[in-house]
Amino acid sequence: MSAFADITPALRGAIPNLRGRLLANQPLSDLTWFRVGGPAQVLFTPADEADLAALLAGLDPEIPVTVIGLGSNLIVRDGGVPGVVIRLGGRAFGSVEIDGDTLRAGTAVPDMRLAKAAAEAGLDGLAFFRGIPGSVGGALRMNAGAHGGETTDVLVEARGVDRSGRLRSFTHAEMGFRYRHSSAPDDVIFTSALFRGRPGDRAAIEAEMDRVTAAREAAQPIRERTGGSTFKNPDGGKAWQLVDAAGCRGLTLGGAQVSEMHCNFLINQGGATAADIEGLGEEVRRRVRETSGVTLHWEIKRIGIAA
Ligand SMILES: Cc1cc2nc3c(=O)[nH]c(=O)nc-3n(C[C@H](O)[C@H](O)[C@H](O)COP(=O)(O)OP(=O)(O)OC[C@H]3O[C@@H](n4cnc5c(N)ncnc54)[C@H](O)[C@@H]3O)c2cc1C
Repeated sequence: MSAFADITPALRGAIPNLRGRLLANQPLSDLTWFRVGGPAQVLFTPADEADLAALLAGLDPEIPVTVIGLGSNLIVRDGGVPGVVIRLGGRAFGSVEIDGDTLRAGTAVPDMRLAKAAAEAGLDGLAFFRGIPGSVGGALRMNAGAHGGETTDVLVEARGVDRSGRLRSFTHAEMGFRYRHSSAPDDVIFTSALFRGRPGDRAAIEAEMDRVTAAREAAQPIRERTGGSTFKNPDGGKAWQLVDAAGCRGLTLGGAQVSEMHCNFLINQGGATAADIEGLGEEVRRRVRETSGVTLHWEIKRIGIAA
C-alpha cells in the first residue's frame, strides 16, 4: 500500500503551539471494529479542547478533516483517509461528572461507561447505552439507540468545535435528531455532552442493564469483527427481514460475510478487505432492491478512498 505524503512537519510549522499527538501514515484498522482499511494521512489526538480548536483554526481549509470515535459503526476504505483524522483520547475527553440528575460526559467516554455511571448515581433512562459499543461522540452523531431508548431521549445539550476552530454549543432542538442521525453541522467535532436522567433505583437500573447485555449476547454477533447494523430500517420495516427475504443470510464476498446470526450485520471472517465488506453490502442492497423494491440506506459510515 502506498503511503501518503508526510504533512506533519508543515502542520507543526504552521501551528507551532500544538500539544497533542500528530502522527503521519498511522494505521486505522486497529481503531475500528472491522479491523480493515488503510492509514490516516495524519492522525491527531488533541491534548484538550483548546488544542483541538487550535489545530482546526490553523489548518489549511483545503485539508479534509475526519473524526472517528471507537470505530464501531465505521468502514475505513483500503486506501486510507487523506487529510487529518481526529480521535479524541481518554484523558481530556474521558470524564463523567454528575450533578443532581445531570451527567456531563466527554465524547471519548464509551457509552457503556456512561450507562454504568448513571446507574451508580441512581439515574434512570440511560441503561440502553449499556449495549452500544461506541463513544458518546458517535452516539451524538448517530443518535445511537437500542431497547426502546435513544440518545435524543436523554440529551440536554452538546458542545463541540467546528472546522474553523470555533467553539459551538447545541441545544437538544439544534441537534436535529432523527432515526440514527443528527443534523448538527457535519463539520462539528463534539467534545462533551450534558445528559439528564430520572431519579431511580440503582438495583433496578442494574437489572435492566443486565437484561440489555443478555439480549445482545443472544441476538447479535458481538464477539465478531463487525460494524453493528449495516443498514437503517426502512419506514415501517426491518432491514434484516428484507436482507433475509432476499436470500442474503450467510452470503460471502472475499473474506466478508453476512452474519448467519443477525443478517443486518456484516462480518470480517479474518482476511477481509474494506472493499470486500463494502462490496458485500452493495450486493445485499442490489438483491434487496431486486426482490422487494426497497432501497436500503447505509447506517455504517464509510470513510477514505479505495486502494
Ligand atoms: C456489535 C455492535 C452492536 C451495535 N449495536 C448498536 C445499537 O444497538 N444501536 C446503535 O445505535 N448502534 C449500534 N452499533 C453501532 C455503533 O456502536 C453506534 O453507531 C455508535 O454510536 C458509534 O460510535 P463510535 O464512537 O464507535 O463512532 P464511529 O463508528 O467511530 O463513528 C461513527 C460516526 O460518528 C462520528 N463521530 C464519532 N465521534 C464523533 C465526535 N466526537 N464528533 C462528531 N462526530 C463523531 C464519525 O465521524 C462517524 O460519522 C453497534 C455496533 C456494533 C459493532
